[in-house]
Amino acid sequence: MATLENPTVILPRKPQGAFRNEPFIDFSQHENARAMRGALERIGDELGHEYPLIIGGERVKTSAKIESLNPARPAQIVGVHQKAGAEHADQAVQAALKAFETWRFTPAEERASLLLGTADLIRERKFDFCAWLTYEVGKNWAEADADVGETIDFLEFYAREALRLAASTPPIQYPGERDELLYIPLGVGAVISPWNFPFAIMAGMTSAAIVSGNTVVLKPSSDSPTIAARFMEVLEEAGLPPGVVNFCPGSGASFGNAVVAHPKTRFIAFTGSKEVGLDIHERAAKAQAGQIWIKRTILEMGGKDSIIVSADADFDAAVAGVVASAFGFSGQKCSACSRAIVEEPIYDAFVERLREKVEDLKVGDPTGNANLGPVVSEGAMKTILSYIEIGKKEGRLVAGGNAIETPEKGYYVAPTVIADVAPKARIAQEEIFGPVLAVIKARDFDDALAIANNTEFGLTGSVYSMDRTKLDHARRSFHVGNLYFNRKSTGAMVGAHPFGGFNMSGTDSKAGGPDYLYLFTQAKSVGEKL
Ligand code: NAD
Repeated sequence: MATLENPTVILPRKPQGAFRNEPFIDFSQHENARAMRGALERIGDELGHEYPLIIGGERVKTSAKIESLNPARPAQIVGVHQKAGAEHADQAVQAALKAFETWRFTPAEERASLLLGTADLIRERKFDFCAWLTYEVGKNWAEADADVGETIDFLEFYAREALRLAASTPPIQYPGERDELLYIPLGVGAVISPWNFPFAIMAGMTSAAIVSGNTVVLKPSSDSPTIAARFMEVLEEAGLPPGVVNFCPGSGASFGNAVVAHPKTRFIAFTGSKEVGLDIHERAAKAQAGQIWIKRTILEMGGKDSIIVSADADFDAAVAGVVASAFGFSGQKCSACSRAIVEEPIYDAFVERLREKVEDLKVGDPTGNANLGPVVSEGAMKTILSYIEIGKKEGRLVAGGNAIETPEKGYYVAPTVIADVAPKARIAQEEIFGPVLAVIKARDFDDALAIANNTEFGLTGSVYSMDRTKLDHARRSFHVGNLYFNRKSTGAMVGAHPFGGFNMSGTDSKAGGPDYLYLFTQAKSVGEKL
């Protein structure tokens, strides 16, 4: 284990060819299913361990603790974590500041090697990481694999991007000069991550920040600190120098606020809800005594995502796409379809087929690989159930509509479809973040597009249609950061679908895209007279 006294070194590594997405695991293959069951058993024996804060490479304990619970069996503790308070924010920022003085000048090749080495370690232990996600946030096997695969993708992609930026093409050469444009790091960043992609988003924001030469205070969600602690382990094993990432689970209100407000925090990379994102935006805008920069904020927030189903669509593909987008990981994705907007001529048939498909979905413990596992917490379950009650008044309940009780008292909500919802109804406008789909009838395609654009969000959207004119119309007018045609609204692939939303969905940072690392750097122009 790397510590302050015993740091490991970063072994030089080069990217193996051009970037390619990590292949998905085919769990229908007997040996893969067996490997997953083996990992669940192995990791099952590791549940309940205690993890320290890591500040400047030192292990720190606090009297207050965070217990991360298995949402399928809340009596099962997945990990016990320290709870950083406001008093730890300065320690963590100071440790990151100290590390920044060397890390900022560490060659890009070495920083990229750290990411590539970490990706290799995660790849070697892929099933174990999947098992951690299954226990900590209730992902079934394929959802866990997608999260782990995306983590590897971010590491591989940003390693290559950092090398590209370091070798950036020179600007126009003014006659008689040698002119350069250097992308240099910003400083100390706060990385504040959500629980729903607790591995990929947490690791993605962290790795983008550090590969660009910044140092980081990492505050994972209190619902998913264990996977972040496990990420710290592989980072350290791959040679992370002390202080480059400071691991601080803690409450948003005390630690989160303090680190955002700290005068030495240079930037905040946040993914989470609209409310918290806006709060961070406001706090970060206020200059503190001793602060000598404008803090940069990279804020990716919520969604209320629509799939438009046109009358000319491939009907079965559209139903399958809506079901996968609405109910994968129990709808707890910012990209989840929570509004199906269906053209009138096929509306009744569509709702009926949807009902059949949704009633076929199996809800159960994700260790057994059910279609839907639990929602993440008791609080989330209560919020979702209260929206379902609102929805029952705002529309016609077609499927689900209730909690599902289990002997282990897991937080299960039945996949729920509410039809005949008005475009401005609350369940058509507010992010529910659970397995609840509103179905809205549209007169025609123009009406469908107007409904799709009628929320304050603008994250993802899909259109199912065989009509090129309609698709072209949607390409111009459907105002979302990630638009898809004839495929589901979830499952953005690093590299192919740079991810980030418009309007109240965020700053459109486009994670996994060619512009992302620019957000973690500042450009310095150097002109030398020859
Ligand atoms: P959340 O906003 O409740 O929490 C996100 C993080 O912010 C957590 O680490 C939390 O502890 C921290 N936090 C809370 N209050 C804080 C404060 N005052 N100061 C600093 N930090 C604070 O979100 P969540 O429930 O973890 O995640 C679900 C939300 O994230 C949904 O709205 C979803 O749409 C969104 N999300 C967006 C994207 C995207 O790319 N746009 C991706 C995933 C999730």
